[in-house]
Amino acid sequence: MEFKTDALVLRSADYRENDRIVTLLTAERGKLSATMRGVRKAGAKLHFASQPFCFAEYVFAEKGGRYTVTAASLHDGFYGLREDIAALYGAACVAQASDLLLYEGMQGGLLLVAAVRALGELSAGEGAGAVVRFLAQALALAGYPVEAGVCPVCGAVPLGRMKFDMDRGIFTCAAHSDGVPASEATYLSLRAAIGGGKGTEDGDLRALRLLGAYFRDKTEAEPKALGEYLRLLTPVH
Ligand SMILES: [Zn+2]
Repeated sequence: MEFKTDALVLRSADYRENDRIVTLLTAERGKLSATMRGVRKAGAKLHFASQPFCFAEYVFAEKGGRYTVTAASLHDGFYGLREDIAALYGAACVAQASDLLLYEGMQGGLLLVAAVRALGELSAGEGAGAVVRFLAQALALAGYPVEAGVCPVCGAVPLGRMKFDMDRGIFTCAAHSDGVPASEATYLSLRAAIGGGKGTEDGDLRALRLLGAYFRDKTEAEPKALGEYLRLLTPVH
């Protein structure tokens, strides 16, 4: 049986002599692994479609629950990522978070849209803010939303030193929950990201750290690529 769907390559691993196995985020079938035959041979027509971050329309043949890619037509290869190491690491965060958050039966369509948008922004030179926006969206789609609104206890906008309540994914004043300490810059960056805007460079870094902790708390999975991205972005003193 054959079918086609838009998909993004999250991971790619060499297999046998000339093949690859790709893990894809698809619009219609969530996460899916497929074999690509002969793509490591010189001049292979579908080589491009076996590369990480390739966004294309893929045609699959299905047999006994196994998938093989038979054709692909490119939407975007995000080639700008290859020219900027920070952007490449940011893209790895997007791919790994998608991979870890996609559970069986989850609709992939909205996550795919968010991931493709983030890769486009990173490829065009946008920094960590693109990853903050993506993680906030992806976590919300997986059922773990983060809010940066008013403190639910007193109704005021939290200022200065505040707390982030991991259980509820919300910020409160320092005195109004026993969450983890968070800074105003973190709050402002996340509020901007959720509203589609931009935070400061320092705030985005802090927001990434907080989202990493929240990610681990909710999924019990380790977003290693995020740790590597943060090490790359953090200035050495
Ligand atoms: Zn309060």
